[in-house]
Amino acid sequence: MEWADELAARVTGPQVVNDSKTPSGTVHVGSLRGPVILDVITRALRASGHETTLLYGVDDLDPMDAQALLTPDAIEREMGRPLAHIPDQVGDGHESYARHHASVFIDTFAGLGIRPDRYYWMSEHYAAGDMDPYIRIALDRADVVRAVYQRVANVRHPDTWHPISVICPTCGRVGTTIVTQWDGERVFFECRPDLVTWAKGCGSSGWVSPYGGAAKLPWNLEWAAQWSLFGVTIEPCGKDLATAGGSRDRSDAIAREVFEREPPINVPYEFLNIGGRKMSTSKGRGTPAHLIAEVVPPEQLRLLFLRPRPNQAIEFDPDGTDAIPRLFDEFDRLGDAIAGRDVKGELPAGFANVFRYSLLDPSADHEVEAARFRFAFSHLATLIQIPGVDVAASAAEEKGDALDESEAANLEARITAAQRWLEHFAPDDAKLAVQPTLPAEAASLDAADRAFLAALSERAAALAPGPDGLAGPAVAADGEAWQAAIFETATQGGLKAGRAFRALYLAFLGRPNGPRAGWLLAKLEPDFVRARLREAAADARLPA
Ligand SMILES: [Zn+2]
Ligand SMILES: [Zn+2]
Repeated sequence: MEWADELAARVTGPQVVNDSKTPSGTVHVGSLRGPVILDVITRALRASGHETTLLYGVDDLDPMDAQALLTPDAIEREMGRPLAHIPDQVGDGHESYARHHASVFIDTFAGLGIRPDRYYWMSEHYAAGDMDPYIRIALDRADVVRAVYQRVANVRHPDTWHPISVICPTCGRVGTTIVTQWDGERVFFECRPDLVTWAKGCGSSGWVSPYGGAAKLPWNLEWAAQWSLFGVTIEPCGKDLATAGGSRDRSDAIAREVFEREPPINVPYEFLNIGGRKMSTSKGRGTPAHLIAEVVPPEQLRLLFLRPRPNQAIEFDPDGTDAIPRLFDEFDRLGDAIAGRDVKGELPAGFANVFRYSLLDPSADHEVEAARFRFAFSHLATLIQIPGVDVAASAAEEKGDALDESEAANLEARITAAQRWLEHFAPDDAKLAVQPTLPAEAASLDAADRAFLAALSERAAALAPGPDGLAGPAVAADGEAWQAAIFETATQGGLKAGRAFRALYLAFLGRPNGPRAGWLLAKLEPDFVRARLREAAADARLPA
C-alpha cells in the first residue's frame, strides 16, 4: 500500500481525483478495481493533509456499439445512438439505458465505502454547453489533433477529418457521423451508411452547430477535455488504455498540445482475471459487480483489490471454489498479525496498511479493529448448515467471552455472506444440507452398514451431552468422542472406517461424502441423531 502514500507524498496543493466509465452494459466485478484504487488514493491524500475532491463520471454520450447488449427488436433502431438516448431495456424506471447500467454499478460504491464528492454525466455537461469551449478549440486545432494521432498512434486521418461526432439530427446516431468541414461556427456532417460495421447511418448531411449537446468529442479528446473542465490532477486507468500509443498516450498528448494543460498523474492498474480470462463488460462475461457486492462484505471485497499492487493482475474465480472463503481467511490473518497473534505463512509487504485501507471506515483505528474477534468463515459456513446450532453461542464460546456490539454485527454480516456464498458460489462439497427426513440414497445401505448404524445408535445414548439436551461447553470433545465412537463401532462390527462414514453421510446428507462426521453428529440434536440412526438401520426398503 506504500504506493498510495508515496503518491500522496509527491504531490502539492489541492488535488482532484477522477475516473469515468462508459455504461455500455452490466459491469463486472473487475471494474470495481478502479473505484477502490480511486478511494484509496483519496484517503491517502486526505490523510496527508491535501484538500482533495473525488469525482466519478459517466461517459453516457458514447455510442452503443455492441449488438449483444440489446434486445433483438432494438438492434436496428438503437445501434450507434448515444447510450443516454437509448430507453432502459430493463424497464425498471431509469430514464435511459445508460442511467440503468451506470446506476446499478455506482449504487455498489457507497456500500464499499467509496463516496465521490460528485458524480457527473457527460450528456448533461454537453447539453449545458460546458464542453463548447473545448469543442471550439478542438475544431480550430484539427490539424494539431490529426498530427497527434499520426505521431502517437500511427493513425492517419484524411486532411478533411475533424475531431467531432455530430448526433445525426435525422436518425439520432452518433457513431455513424463524420465531419469534413468547420466554418468557425458550424460543421458539415455526413451520416454514412458504411462508416462503421456495427451501425448503419441514414445518409443525411448538412451544416449544424456542434454546441449545446448537438455533437460530442471523440473519446481521446473528451477525456483530455474532462481533465481541463474539472481540473483533474490524478487519474488512474486500466492497463488496456495505458499501452504505448494507446488511449492514455493520445489523451496526454492532446491535453498538452491541444488544450495546453499538463495531464493528470496516471496510476495504471492491471485487470482482474477470472480463471485466467480478462473480464470484459462488452463480452458480458464474469460475475456482475453488484452480485459480488451482495455476497462478499465490503472489507473483504476491498481487500481483494488492495492486496496486490495496482500493476499486478488479480486472479479471482469465485464460482464453485473457495476463493471467497480465502478472502475472509486472508483478512483475518492480516488482522491477527496486527493484533500480535501467531499467523501462518508469509505476510505481504505493508500488510498493516493493506488491512487499514480495506476497512470501510477511513477513520477507524485499525489496531482496535484488528484485535476484534472474527469467526472463521469456512467454519461458520459449516455451522449454519447444521440444524439446531446456536451460532452466536458457538462464537462466544470460541472467543471465550461475550461478543461486543461490533463483533456481533460482524458475525451477522458473515452469516449472511456465508448463506449467500452457499447459495451462489460454494462448491458442492461445502454444502452439508442435513436432510430433514431419511434420504432416498440411504436405500443403498447394505446389511453390514445397517448393523453398524444400529450399534452406533445404541452407543449414542451414552454420548448424549446431558439431560437438558444442550451441547455443553466441550463441543470439540463431543465431536472427538463421536469420532472415536464411530471408529470403535465400525471396528467391532468389522466394517472399514471409510464405509462407516459413507453410511453416516448417506443417512444424514443423502450423499456418500461430507465433512468430519463425528463433529457433524455432535452438533445435531441428540434425539434427532438417535432417531435417524435407528430409522436408517431399519430401512424397510431394504431386503432383510
Ligand atoms: Zn433500469
Ligand atoms: Zn443519420
